[in-house]
Amino acid sequence: MNILLYPNKNLNKKSKLIKYFFLKKIFFYIYEIRNILLLNENYLALSGIQIGLKKRFFLMKYKKKILTFINPVILWSSKKKEKFIESCISIPNFSVIKERSKYIIIKYKNEEFYERIFFARNIFSSCIQHEIDHMNGILINNY
Ligand SMILES: [Zn+2]
Repeated sequence: MNILLYPNKNLNKKSKLIKYFFLKKIFFYIYEIRNILLLNENYLALSGIQIGLKKRFFLMKYKKKILTFINPVILWSSKKKEKFIESCISIPNFSVIKERSKYIIIKYKNEEFYERIFFARNIFSSCIQHEIDHMNGILINNY
């Protein structure tokens, strides 16, 4: 499975919500993304659009696990911001300092399509905001 690289136009497209009946169809992509993350120690997260599937989901490494976040929505983000050095798997050899909320709370569906809440801080907060930007067609060099 190929990772889309900038300036591929698909990276600027908006991803669509995943409906329950479509869930089984994304399992293959979830499997592929999990393998990519496992094989690349320095990759933290990857979203569906980055392997060409315009659906709202991403996987992120967290506490020695790889979690799947389907249809993530930010419920709350802290006024407290922090500057993070960000890079993107789709934009090789590029990084930028980006100010984002230090804490966020999101809701999402897990692989069984149960609704879950996730509180993220620091790098995980920045990472999730980065992945949700991907779902809205925004890259770190678009700001
Ligand atoms: Zn990225």
